[in-house]
Amino acid sequence: MMGSDRNLRPLSEATQPLYAGVDLGGTSIKAALVDDEGRLVAFHTEPTHAARGPEDAAARMGRMVHTLASLAGVATADIARVGLGSPGPLDIPAGKIVRAGNLPGWDDFPLRDRVSAHCGRGVTFANDANAAGYGEFWVGSARGTSSLVLLTLGTGVGGGIIIGDVNVEGAHSHGSECGHIIVDPSPEARICPCGQPGHLEAYASATSLKAMAAEKVAAGGTGSLAAAVAAGEDLSPILISREAGAGDALATAVLMEAARWLGIGIVTLMHTIDPEAVLIGGAMTFGREEHPVGRMFIARVREEVHRRTFPVLARSTTIRYASLGGDAGSIGAAGLARLDHRRLHA
Ligand SMILES: [Zn+2]
Repeated sequence: MMGSDRNLRPLSEATQPLYAGVDLGGTSIKAALVDDEGRLVAFHTEPTHAARGPEDAAARMGRMVHTLASLAGVATADIARVGLGSPGPLDIPAGKIVRAGNLPGWDDFPLRDRVSAHCGRGVTFANDANAAGYGEFWVGSARGTSSLVLLTLGTGVGGGIIIGDVNVEGAHSHGSECGHIIVDPSPEARICPCGQPGHLEAYASATSLKAMAAEKVAAGGTGSLAAAVAAGEDLSPILISREAGAGDALATAVLMEAARWLGIGIVTLMHTIDPEAVLIGGAMTFGREEHPVGRMFIARVREEVHRRTFPVLARSTTIRYASLGGDAGSIGAAGLARLDHRRLHA
C-alpha cells in the first residue's frame, strides 16, 4: 500500500514542474507527487487519526508533502503547488470544512491555510469528489473528453463535474453535490444521511445498499445472502456483491435497485450538463467491467439511462467506470493545483 504496486515514473523522465496532491479521507490520507502530465512520481499514505484533531492532521499533511519531495529526491520548494481534496461540505474560498460528517470536531478549522503553513507551499482547496473527477478527466477514464460527471459510490455518493478544465464548485461551494440531487419525491422516499428525503445518496451508497438488503432480509427474504447474514456474516457491499455473483436473487435485486436509482440520477445530470462522459467510481464498483457483477451493475445503469434520455444522448454519452481507483483524489488534487499554478503564472 505504500506505492509498491504503483507504476512510478523516475524523476529523470518526469516533465517539470511537479505538483503534490493530498486526498483527506475519514480513515486515511493519500498523497501523490505527479509531473506536469499527471504521471505519478511518488506516493505516500498515512492513517488520518481524525480523533487527534485537525491541527495534528494539518501538520502531518504538511510533512507528507516534504516526504513526497524526499521520496522523489527533490526539494519541497521544487513542488510548484499543492492540491488538497477534502470531504465536504466546504467553504472553498475560506479554505474550511463547514461540516465534516466523518471528521468530528473539524468544523470551521482553517485547513487549507494550516496545511500551507506546514508545507510552505501554496495550497489549492477542493471537494474530494471534484478532485477525483478532475483526476479522471486529466489522466483517467475520461482523458481526452471535453466534460465529465463523476459519481463516487462509497459510504456516501460524491459528485464531481468538470467542464473544459473548469471544476464546477458553485457560488457557495456546493456545486457538483450530485449525491444530493432528488431522485424520489414520493412521501415514502428514503432519508439521506444529510437529513433530507429522496436524495440519490439514500439509494446508491454503500450505506443505503446495506440498509436496503437488511430490510429485504428482515421482511423474510431467503437465499444465500439471507443465510450468510443469519450465520453472522457482516452485511457489507462486498458480501452483497459476492452473493449476487453467486446468483442470489435478493442480493441481485438490491444491486439492480441501486443501479436503477443511479440511472435515474444520471439522466437528470445528463439533461442538465450534457457531459461527454459519466463515470462511476469510488470504493463500490463491484470489480468494474472485469467482473460479472460490475458488468451487470453498469448494464442496469445504462438500461435505465437509455430508457429515460433522448436518443442522441443514449447513443453518444459514454457511461463507464472510473479507472484511477483510490488514487483519483490525490492525482486530481494535484491537477487542480496545476490549473491554479498556471493561472497564477500565466
Ligand atoms: Zn442528501
